[in-house]
Amino acid sequence: MSVSAREPRRVAIVGAGPAGVYAADLLLRAERPFEVQIDLFERLPAPYGLVRYGVAPDHPHIKHIVNALRTTLDASGVRLFGNVEFGAQIGLEDLRAHYDAVIFATGALDDASLHVPGENLSGSFGASAFVGWYDGHPDFPLEWPLDATDVAVIGNGNVALDITRMLVRSVQDLAGTDIPENVEQDLGRSRVSDVHVFGRRGPGFAKFSPLETRELGQIPGVDVLLDPEDFVPDPDSDAAFEANNQRKVLRRIFTEWLGRTPTGASRRVHLHFRWRPAEILGDGRVTGLRVERTAVDDRGALVGTGEFREFPVGQVYRAVGYTGSPLSGVPFDADRGVIPNSEGRVLGADGSPIPGEYVTGWIRRGPVGLIGSTKSDALQTITHLVEDLGAGRGWTPRDGGAGAVPALLSERKIEYTTLEGWHRLDAYEHELGAAQGRDRIKVVSREEMVRHSRG
Ligand SMILES: Cc1cc2nc3c(=O)[nH]c(=O)nc-3n(C[C@H](O)[C@H](O)[C@H](O)COP(=O)(O)OP(=O)(O)OC[C@H]3O[C@@H](n4cnc5c(N)ncnc54)[C@H](O)[C@@H]3O)c2cc1C
Repeated sequence: MSVSAREPRRVAIVGAGPAGVYAADLLLRAERPFEVQIDLFERLPAPYGLVRYGVAPDHPHIKHIVNALRTTLDASGVRLFGNVEFGAQIGLEDLRAHYDAVIFATGALDDASLHVPGENLSGSFGASAFVGWYDGHPDFPLEWPLDATDVAVIGNGNVALDITRMLVRSVQDLAGTDIPENVEQDLGRSRVSDVHVFGRRGPGFAKFSPLETRELGQIPGVDVLLDPEDFVPDPDSDAAFEANNQRKVLRRIFTEWLGRTPTGASRRVHLHFRWRPAEILGDGRVTGLRVERTAVDDRGALVGTGEFREFPVGQVYRAVGYTGSPLSGVPFDADRGVIPNSEGRVLGADGSPIPGEYVTGWIRRGPVGLIGSTKSDALQTITHLVEDLGAGRGWTPRDGGAGAVPALLSERKIEYTTLEGWHRLDAYEHELGAAQGRDRIKVVSREEMVRHSRG
C-alpha cells in the first residue's frame, strides 16, 4: 500500500509532560489532509511531567494546570502508555516499525553542574533531587535528611526560590497541599533555621519573578535578611534594574526589605548577591561553603575579586539550571543539552532534517520558559509535522495496526499503565486527600502507583 493512500497516520509522542500533551492536542486540532492516531509514551506511571513533579506544592493554583491537561487528554482519544521508558523498554526501531513519526518531549531533568570542588560531597544536592523528593517523584529517595541548621542554596532563579520556601516553610503551613506523607514527616523534623541564597551577580540581575519574591517575604515565621554591602552602587546592577518592569518591581521589594527590622523569627532567609561559589568544603560531607566576591571588568565580564568568605553550612543545594539527557539513537547536542532541531524538526549529523523525527518542549530549546511556552513550541513542531506527513515525508511502518504496540509491550512483560489506569490512581489520590481535608495526597512508590493504575 502506498504511503499516501494509507489512513490514518500514527504518531508516537515520547514524554507526557505539558509539551507532549499540548503537542497531541494541537496535532488533533490541526487542519491536515490525513486522519491521525496518537500514542503517548511516558516513563512514569503518571502523566504531566514537571507540572506534577516540579511545580512547588505550595503553588496549588499552578498545580491546577493538571486539570486542564487532563481535560485535553480525556477529550483527545490519545492512548497513554505509562511506565514505559524510551531507550529502556521501547526503542527507536520499535517506533519506526509501528508509527509514521515520533515527537520527543522528554524535558530536561538533570542538574547543571557548578564546576567547583566539593560538588560530590555528601550533603551537596542538585535541585532536581530535592524537588523530586518534596513533589513525590517515584525515582527519588523517600527520606530527606533535613539535619543541618544552616544550608546554602546556589542560584537566583525561581527554582532557587521554590527550594528556599520549601526549606523554611513550617509543615503546618503546607498542611493543605498535596505533599506526600513521607515529606510531611521529614519536614516536621527539619532542623533548618538559616537558608543562605547566593547569586553571583548584583541584585539587578536576579531572575526571581516579582510574585514569588514577594511571597518569600510573606512566609509566616520567617525573616528575609539582605546585606547592605551587596547593594553598594554598582552601575551594571543598577542599570539592570531599569531593564524592565519586573526588575523595577524587584528593586522596590529589595529596598523595602533593606529597611525592615528583623522580627526575631526562628527561621531566616539570607539573600547574598555578588558572591560566587568557589568550593564546597568538607571531608566526606559538607561542612561549609567558600564563596568569592565578584565584580564586572571593563569588558563587562564577571570576574573574581580575590576576596573570599566562608559560610559554615551543612548542606548545599544547587539550583543553577537543568539540562536534557540524550535518548538512545537520537541526535544530541551535549553542549546545549537539547536534541538539535530546526523549528522542531530533528537534525542529523549533516544538519538536515531526519524524516519522521520531531521534538518539542524543554528538550527542544533547553530548560527555560514556563508551562505556557511549551504550547507555542508545540505549535511550530506540529505545523512542520503536518506539512511533512501530508507530503509523504515520514516513516513507513511495518505494522501500523492499533493492537501492535500493546501486544509488543505485553510480549515484553512491561507493566504499562493507561489513561483509564491514571484515572483510577488519580481518584485514589483524591480519596486519600479527602480523608484529611486535602485536595490530594500523592502516592509515591512506583509499585503502588502501578498497582492502583492497573486495578
Ligand atoms: C522545579 C521547577 C519548578 C517549576 N515551576 C513552574 C511554575 O511554577 N510555573 C510554570 O509555569 N512553570 C514552572 N516550571 C517550568 C515547567 O515545569 C516547564 O516549562 C515544563 O514542565 C516543560 O515541559 P516539558 O513537557 O518539556 O518537560 P517535562 O515537564 O519535564 O515533561 C517531560 C516528560 O517526559 C518524560 N520522559 C523523560 N524521559 C523519558 C523517556 N526516556 N521515555 C518516556 N518518557 C520520558 C518525563 O517523565 C516527563 O513526564 C518549573 C520547572 C521546574 C524545574
